[in-house]
Amino acid sequence: MDMQTSFLDRLFESGLLIDTGIDGLYGRSGQFEDVIAAFERLIDTFGGADGAEAMRFPPGMNRAFFEKSGYMKSFPQLAGTVHSFCGSELDHVSLLQCMEVGEDWTKGQEATDIVLTPAACYPLYPTIAKRGNLPKTGGLFDLQSYCFRHEPSKDPARQQLFRMREYVCMGTELHVTDFRQRWMDRGVEMMRAVGLDVTIDVANDPFFGRAGKMLANNQRDQNLKFELLIPITSAANPTACMSFNYHQDAFGTKWGLNLEDGSVAHTACVGFGLERIALALFHHHGLDVKQWPASVRKALWG
Ligand code: ATP
Ligand code: ZN
Ligand code: MG
Repeated sequence: MDMQTSFLDRLFESGLLIDTGIDGLYGRSGQFEDVIAAFERLIDTFGGADGAEAMRFPPGMNRAFFEKSGYMKSFPQLAGTVHSFCGSELDHVSLLQCMEVGEDWTKGQEATDIVLTPAACYPLYPTIAKRGNLPKTGGLFDLQSYCFRHEPSKDPARQQLFRMREYVCMGTELHVTDFRQRWMDRGVEMMRAVGLDVTIDVANDPFFGRAGKMLANNQRDQNLKFELLIPITSAANPTACMSFNYHQDAFGTKWGLNLEDGSVAHTACVGFGLERIALALFHHHGLDVKQWPASVRKALWG
């Protein structure tokens, strides 16, 4: 039995994660959720004074916005779409017959106007663009959403439906790169406060295909993405628990996000992987929260 299986099994046995029969799709216990809630309050104490505008979107987004985002160019392998039955009574009969004999009943499903949100910030850009030019101070937003990525895995830290807390900043290059640096510093400080050892490293997104390799290399060479890494299922390959992304003016140009003077906004986003952070805490401090170091409990629950 490898390390990953055993940590996942221990999480199931303890009841912290609840097996659904699908890799990467888990229920969580009240205790697990309590850790996430406490960590989110810690995020609030670090970010609260910045005056971010809070918004919460459901875990599905407008398909037209998703199409325009270009997600299918970069990550077709990860996307999830919502399909529904839109047929007649006759179609319904053949659907049920299909199910009866164990044939693929999903073939007749049609795409709805909703796709599963791949990252918490995706619904934000078109929403803000609709408002017109950003104010002089730029934009700062506080988001949290379930996100879907089709990447089934036995690694409990790689889920298909997981929550991402994000801050997104819009403004000049200097403004948004300062924002990103501030959160890298805060991320290290926060993790230290809850007794987790971290490293920060340059990273890239898993762009699809051969052309994607070039995009990934470019992203690395330009230091556009950093990750805060914590060992969870492997010491040699620590897990990204936060990411810090500078989009340059790519999203500003795509969505028509402009500053007060009409120039194109630069954007950056910082994401916390909430399940991963909880799993890092359980991995390092044990599955019984009552046994966690007093300093960690104090940082989380006061
Ligand atoms: P990885 O390299 O591990 O696939 P990522 O680069 O795809 O991570 P981002 O797209 O930057 O991650 O997402 C922001 C954060 O969301 C990550 O830092 C991580 O903490 C969390 N996250 C990403 N994918 C998953 C997943 N499949 N399960 C749980 N958390 C995830
Ligand atoms: Zn983002
Ligand atoms: Mg990924």
